[in-house]
Amino acid sequence: MDMLAEPYRIKMVEKLPMLSRREREAAIARAGYNTFLLRSDEVYIDLLTDSGTSAMSDDQWAAMMHGDEAYSGSRNFFNLQDSVREIYGFKHVIPTHQGRGAEHILSSLLIKPGDYIPGNMYFTTTRAHQERAGGIFVDVIIDEAHDPASDHPFKGNVSLEKLENLFAKVGPENVPYLSLAVTVNLAGGQPVSLENMRQTRELCSRHGVPIYFDATRCAENAYFIQQREEGCKERSVADILLEMMSYGDGCTMSGKKDCLVNIGGFLATNDGDLYESATEIVTLFEGFPTYGGLAGRDMEAMAVGIREMVDDDYIAHRVSQVRYLGSYLEGAGVPLVKPVGGHAVFLDARSFLAHLTQDELPAQSLAAALYAESGVRTMERGVVSAGRDPETGQHRYPRLELVRVTLPRRVYTRGHLDVVAEAAATLYQKRDQISGLRMVHEPAVLRFFTARFEPLKENLVGSE
Ligand SMILES: *Cc1c(COP(=O)(O)O)cnc(C)c1O
Repeated sequence: MDMLAEPYRIKMVEKLPMLSRREREAAIARAGYNTFLLRSDEVYIDLLTDSGTSAMSDDQWAAMMHGDEAYSGSRNFFNLQDSVREIYGFKHVIPTHQGRGAEHILSSLLIKPGDYIPGNMYFTTTRAHQERAGGIFVDVIIDEAHDPASDHPFKGNVSLEKLENLFAKVGPENVPYLSLAVTVNLAGGQPVSLENMRQTRELCSRHGVPIYFDATRCAENAYFIQQREEGCKERSVADILLEMMSYGDGCTMSGKKDCLVNIGGFLATNDGDLYESATEIVTLFEGFPTYGGLAGRDMEAMAVGIREMVDDDYIAHRVSQVRYLGSYLEGAGVPLVKPVGGHAVFLDARSFLAHLTQDELPAQSLAAALYAESGVRTMERGVVSAGRDPETGQHRYPRLELVRVTLPRRVYTRGHLDVVAEAAATLYQKRDQISGLRMVHEPAVLRFFTARFEPLKENLVGSE
């Protein structure tokens, strides 16, 4: 099928735990049917997240040995700065311990209480930092992003109409910046087109509003542009990425995703004044501005990872793995969000388990059943993750009730993906036998991490 061969070979291996079905059933019961509460040594193929789970290259491991652990002025910082200037094109760089460290600094410097921050769909930590600074997030993504059946090629695009309406309603002086995510994680890893970035930039510039990218998966976005946008076929991913970033004033970055490291992030900006203020507050929350909460060796590994992320062969293979898993599942009739995004396949649990109501937690049940079936760990993104409305105390009922099957970078092979797809297809054949769940322990905040559940029937996957 539709998957490229790996553009790398293996020189170190990590043994995988292989539990029996009975051991897996005991493990998921002990974990309260919550995949977050499984121990990693109970998991065969771990597709919980692509965050911090990448395999580093030999060059990155070699770079770790070049750690310059000086408190200030580490040469690794200057190498990181060179990589960011060259690959992203931004002038000033502040390393942070991970993406949310950069979000914290940006939000606290730019947002004043009562401000509105438009963005192409929220992300959990991004919105939490905006709200913490007193801001109000406003979703300006196109409507197609909220429809699992829409196959719009750039489902992450900003709706210029929604953005224009916001400026008209609240006044651009109350909009400190637009937060532009590439790709859009919670829409399923969906990209934004260059054309849309250009138009968004033009509209924002007319109103004097800066743009800050959430560049977490910017290389994946650049690859989709190369594949899907007119006139981009012959361009390199690096060239496209540089043009993308030219439409913004800076970015926050989670190095744990596209930069191919296990920890790290940064804030980048072209705004000299913002940079000056950022160097003051980073010292309070992260560390001195030339290390920002990272060891020198971590900065060096990220400096190398940034260059590797725009390697055309690497990124083409990365996205082809996700596409391969998606087409295998689609061929087996398993309902998914389409088109398949850059980092994950999202199973549509609402139609997969059509016999369950949303109160019977279809996505949570499906993630638990998939683990019991195969030892594959995935994540619920539905009513449990959405939490309760702080005003009414009622469950939020999101339109999308999904199981996220996320691929770490350079970690698993086609054989692993076949196991995952076959397990999901087998489960789909016996979907009527999958029981719903009820929540028996509900934490007050971010409940999806530690909530516990029980099957509504005697067994999670019963025999009718
Ligand atoms: C992971 C992520 C972040 C936060 O980054 P961390 O490194 O986890 O702090 C921000 N935005 C998006 C879209 C992400 O996926």
